[in-house]
Amino acid sequence: MDAADEFGIAASAAALHTLKDLAKKPDDEADRAQLANTYTDRLVPERSPGNALYIELRKAPYQICPLCGHRDISTLDHQLPKGKYPLLSVVPINLVPACGICNWLKGEHVPETAGDQTLHPYYDDLSDQQWLFARLKWTENRPPEVTYFIRSPEGAGDVLAVRVFCHFQMLRLAELYGPNAVREMSNIRGILRAMNAAGRHKYLLLAEHSILTDKRAGGHNHWKRALFQALAGDSWYLESGFDQF
Ligand SMILES: [Zn+2]
Repeated sequence: MDAADEFGIAASAAALHTLKDLAKKPDDEADRAQLANTYTDRLVPERSPGNALYIELRKAPYQICPLCGHRDISTLDHQLPKGKYPLLSVVPINLVPACGICNWLKGEHVPETAGDQTLHPYYDDLSDQQWLFARLKWTENRPPEVTYFIRSPEGAGDVLAVRVFCHFQMLRLAELYGPNAVREMSNIRGILRAMNAAGRHKYLLLAEHSILTDKRAGGHNHWKRALFQALAGDSWYLESGFDQF
């Protein structure tokens, strides 16, 4: 069995942490360095032999990073880092189109346990289950804020639930989504002003629904879906709070 097969089987079983032996191969340092550089030297540079494949792999629908669901794709992320797993440096199923920041945040992380892995877009499809939620926090004398949190996806096993948490933490999604949410609320303030509370409620439900039912718009776990859902359920926001953003 080659490294790609080993990776595929482990990824399907959420068991990338069991591939520690693969990290030891090849044992010759020069070979390791050469393999690790294959990606950098022969895939990424514009005139390199593998550049057409690199471009093809980076293509994803609408060019949005599948890891954060927000920033533009600008690179390929190694699900298991090439520096630690030279044999996987150019294995396509180990290469995920991603934004530069998600790529940087994952860094050289090597999973220690089954739960200690970010979600792999080719293997962990949770696109029809909501796990991302938002909550509006408002108290006297403090600017209101939006906090994001996760709940275990329904029916997901323990390992997947822990991995969703790992994904959320490692990619610092709460830090990304919170400020975006406040900007979005500022964007829709003018629209909401033209409506009464019932109209605002209806508008927000519609906005949530349009994202939820359209994978291209983000689907179940897009930060805007969670935001509109939270706002539609917040009577303070619907009555008067919307005007404070
Ligand atoms: Zn990203």
